[in-house]
Amino acid sequence: MAARSNSQAEGDKPLNASRRVLLANPRGFCAGVERAIEAVEQALQRAGAPVYVRRAIVHNRLVVEALERRGAVFVQDVAEIPEGAVTVLSAHGSARSVKLAAQGRHLRVIDAICPLVAKVHAEVETWYRAGRHILLIGHAGHPEVVGTLGQVPAGAISVLASPRDLDALDLAPNTSIAYAVQTTFAAREADGLIAAIKARFHDVAGPRSSDICYATTNRQQAIEAIAPLCDLVLVVGDEMSSNARRLVEVARTAGCREARLIAGADALPAEAAGARSIGLTAAASTPETAIAGVCEALRALGFSIEEAPGESERVSFRPVSFEALRESALSGSLDDRLTRLRADIDAEIDRAIGTARGRDRRLAEAMRYAAIGGGKRFRALLVAAVADLVGGSYAQALRVGAAIECIHAQSLVHDDLPCMDDDDLRRGVPTLHRKFDEATAVLAGDALIALAFEILADEATHPDAAVRAGLVLSLARAVGQDGLAGGQMMDLFPPARPSRQDLFDCEQRKTGALIRFAVEAGAMLGHCSTDERARLLTFAENLGLVFQIRDDMLDSIGDAAVVGKAVGKDAGAGRKNAAEMLGLDGAARHASRLESMCHEALDNFGPKASPLRDLARFAVNRMH
Ligand code: SF4
Repeated sequence: MAARSNSQAEGDKPLNASRRVLLANPRGFCAGVERAIEAVEQALQRAGAPVYVRRAIVHNRLVVEALERRGAVFVQDVAEIPEGAVTVLSAHGSARSVKLAAQGRHLRVIDAICPLVAKVHAEVETWYRAGRHILLIGHAGHPEVVGTLGQVPAGAISVLASPRDLDALDLAPNTSIAYAVQTTFAAREADGLIAAIKARFHDVAGPRSSDICYATTNRQQAIEAIAPLCDLVLVVGDEMSSNARRLVEVARTAGCREARLIAGADALPAEAAGARSIGLTAAASTPETAIAGVCEALRALGFSIEEAPGESERVSFRPVSFEALRESALSGSLDDRLTRLRADIDAEIDRAIGTARGRDRRLAEAMRYAAIGGGKRFRALLVAAVADLVGGSYAQALRVGAAIECIHAQSLVHDDLPCMDDDDLRRGVPTLHRKFDEATAVLAGDALIALAFEILADEATHPDAAVRAGLVLSLARAVGQDGLAGGQMMDLFPPARPSRQDLFDCEQRKTGALIRFAVEAGAMLGHCSTDERARLLTFAENLGLVFQIRDDMLDSIGDAAVVGKAVGKDAGAGRKNAAEMLGLDGAARHASRLESMCHEALDNFGPKASPLRDLARFAVNRMH
């Protein structure tokens, strides 16, 4: 927020009331810039120096130099940053390739992207997925434009800065178009270009609210209002700053003969001494100290300083996430991780089941009995470990993990019913239908399935609707005919002489599908290349099989008290499982081969994939 302390007349020079400086309102720092600077300051405070910053955090050298003095190190490329270092990405937004490169170097990334730029990124992604060609009104080469271009594949966006650029586009009038605007573009020019785009193309989509940010609009309107009253306008800002340069243009267009961009008091132009009325404003990235210095210099020349009328800005954004600096929920031994995650998942499921009035208490109680306080949480940890590997957030991974655990709990509740496996014991306690009754068990299972999809479809799971839709679709596939339900049918009604392939098909559906979903979902929460995703899915396929083979072995050799459920059921029911078909030694050898394939699939991921390697080892050696 621009300070309002520059208008006091002071100094010992006689004040010439007819020579005045009109201070535009608002001017100076916007909420996005304040937030980005605070991100670097907080990172320095929490993690200590050095903190690496990719490119200028905001476009002002004074800001950059002040942060350098406190221990920030500014670099052009993430390749210059040491592996694992704390890194802040700038307010202008970064291309996906930058985030991937940061992941590759295992950097602890704090993304200071302005939420208004993030909104533009989300828009272009949505339009790209909808098959539209995107016209980005902006200045080619500006970091914000480069970052926006980097959200979608090359060629998906054309950048326009003028009607001439639009004329030069080789696109048919019936092309489906969407437009987006650089947040600091001049509002009037953008309006003209949008009108020209709409006149040329039949099918044009645009943002629901303008992409040009409030700070740009307010500063441009403020200088537009006072420029005609002044014979000189001074814009305090840095040459790097697009919004500072726009303010100069706006002042000239509004009727001021002379408008200059100056870095500070040292750069006061000679014309200032001869001017009678000077308009003074500052770019959104200009610190108050620079504005105060210019006011001081003008006072010394005999100017009085007046605040022009204007509104104070009351915009504030949600704070930058420092999750990357938290002690990782995935640090420590596998047991530590599982213990922490169990508590977090239980709390998440408890919240999701809720306590809304008017609901059936017995149903909610049965859902909690089935889904909270037990289980390995292997699948939830898998989501969290993959999300962490690809830069996804732990909070989002927890929600997806809770959804998976709801489905897993439901599958066990229904499996235990008399019409299926008819089990009395689960995790060492009575099965749900024994504790409650069969009808309640069926309904609690149904409600848990619904709850899982409700969690995934909720905005809190991911801000991008396309990601949420992807999660819902993948989980539906993991639960339906090609997943749990299909596998359970194959298990209940196997062919008379099941082949090895029949057995593995059944196991891939019964157990593998949900494990595959856990990995796929974790990957969706972050950013990974096609190759990395394929490797993660290979890991998941092998892990799913290992997990089920070990289940089959435990059914033959396990101790019911340790396993937490009855053992020897497959043999008792005359069902062939991997242990019986391959023999115990053969099953152990096969599981070990699959475990090696899990590790191979993770080869390129470096030390950050250790939690996944631990999970593969756990799957093959577990006793419960
Ligand atoms: S000028 Fe606007 S878009 Fe840029 S950082 Fe400030 S608020 Fe965000």
